[in-house]
Amino acid sequence: MGIYEDLGVRPIINAKGPSTRVSGGFLAPEVAAAMAAAGTRCVEMAELQAAASRILAEATGAEAGIVTSGAAAGLLLGTAACVAGLDPGRMARLPDTRGMKNEVIMIRSQRNFYDHAIRAAGVRIVEVGLPDRVAGAGVRDAEGWEIADAITEKTAAVVYVATGGARPALEEVVRVAHGRNVPVLVDAAAQLPPASNLKRYIALGADLVAYSGGKAIGGPQGSGVLCGRRELIMSAILQNLDLDIEWSQWAPPPSLIDKDRLIGLPPHGIGRSCKVGKETIVGLLVALKRFVAEGDEARRVVYRARVERLAAQLGGARGSIREGLVPKLVIEVADGVAACLRLQSGNPPVQVDPSRAAEGILVINPVCLRDEDLDTLGRRLREVVG
Ligand SMILES: *Cc1c(COP(=O)(O)O)cnc(C)c1O
Repeated sequence: MGIYEDLGVRPIINAKGPSTRVSGGFLAPEVAAAMAAAGTRCVEMAELQAAASRILAEATGAEAGIVTSGAAAGLLLGTAACVAGLDPGRMARLPDTRGMKNEVIMIRSQRNFYDHAIRAAGVRIVEVGLPDRVAGAGVRDAEGWEIADAITEKTAAVVYVATGGARPALEEVVRVAHGRNVPVLVDAAAQLPPASNLKRYIALGADLVAYSGGKAIGGPQGSGVLCGRRELIMSAILQNLDLDIEWSQWAPPPSLIDKDRLIGLPPHGIGRSCKVGKETIVGLLVALKRFVAEGDEARRVVYRARVERLAAQLGGARGSIREGLVPKLVIEVADGVAACLRLQSGNPPVQVDPSRAAEGILVINPVCLRDEDLDTLGRRLREVVG
């Protein structure tokens, strides 16, 4: 019996990919071992985050970085940093943003469920652009001038969700925002691989970038990265750390927190509720090192072999491989929604990517599949679609 069976919880076969609802992925043995080792000693959390900052700065090209409890936590902390700066009074008052810059500009077509984490800092989201592309005849989305037009003395940040087709290009958004001294916070939660995207957004001028640690990086499920400008990262970590200490005793690492720039120590900040543990910080750093060392091509070959092995087991069902950095198996079925339901309710339960189920298409994502589960998954797929 395993740890989940002991709890009466059924382990699933995760063919959906590293989604939070299905518990992300699984840990490489060296990541799990590093987390277990981290749990055997105690450290000062600020010192550990300062060590993380050096590693994250090197990996991303940013001035500084911290490990967060997820990309959504990074969005909250990043927004809070843009609003409060290094003012402990403002940090203490959040999410009450009266008298502060309390508007964040977003492109309307980029609004998504995670922007609740931005609003949680106490800001109002100002939408720009009309995503006319969805009309069929339309070709336009937001444009740079519309972002410029929306910037006022209340604008704390422009938040940009980095996806392949995002328009306008980040370069243009950065040019417009920086022209008015407004920082740009990029949500790059799911933009890995390619590993080169760890450096891409900072190189394009983003002031803050949030990544998920529990997705492709292979870190602990509740982990993430926020990297960017030193002053903003200092504000973010101040609003995340536990600050139950007297000013005179407080000696934070100067590379992460420059005490001389503060008039005093704020109480626990708005991000204290997204606390990140030492095991998570260590696990994320080891996973990130592994992710970078492995490389996109080696990963692709492993994923490709998994979908090929599955495709060979499909029997009469119609499957095809969609190539990419993460090759996927695409299966046509008569009723996609019914097939998803049968897969998830059988034994063992199987979760696939349901985003095209309504069109009669099941997508198999190999990232979170264990090799020892492939034959069982093949059998379950044949039962349902074969
Ligand atoms: C997954 C995701 C998030 C949230 O990431 P967590 O690490 O789960 O907090 C935020 N934004 C986008 C675009 C995502 O895909």
